[in-house]
Formats: sequence, C-alpha cells, structure tokens
Amino acid sequence: MKTTRVPHTCPVCGGRGWMEQRFYAGTGVGTASSATVPCRSCTGTGIVWAWEPEALAGGGDMTNAQGMSV
Ligand SMILES: [Zn+2]
Repeated sequence: MKTTRVPHTCPVCGGRGWMEQRFYAGTGVGTASSATVPCRSCTGTGIVWAWEPEALAGGGDMTNAQGMSV
C-alpha cells in the first residue's frame, strides 16, 4: 500500500514546539528551571510527521468519485 507523510500534533510538547529545559536535563538539576528549549521530538515545530497509508491521509478518493456526476 502506498504511504504518505501526514502531520500530527507533537505529543511530547502538545504542539507548542518547546519544552522546559529540565524536561531534558532530568530531575535534580537546579539550574534555570524556567528556561525553555526547542522540543527535540518535533525540533521546535510542534508537528511530527508520520508515515500512514495514503487512503487514510487523503480519504477523498471514494467520496470525490460519488460527488462527480460529469
Ligand atoms: Zn514537540
């Protein structure tokens, strides 16, 4: 089956694109707890791309065919 890349909201940062620095630094590090860093899961975009079957991503082929009467 053909696959395509589809965007998903990053589950790590919730689409914000950033995380608190201590999230990556681990617990016990008392420096700059309020600092933020770009989310490493989505590289700061808030979007992660996943490969999914094209039918699920597009989903328009069958419905389009029904709507076209010409
Ligand atoms: Zn993220």
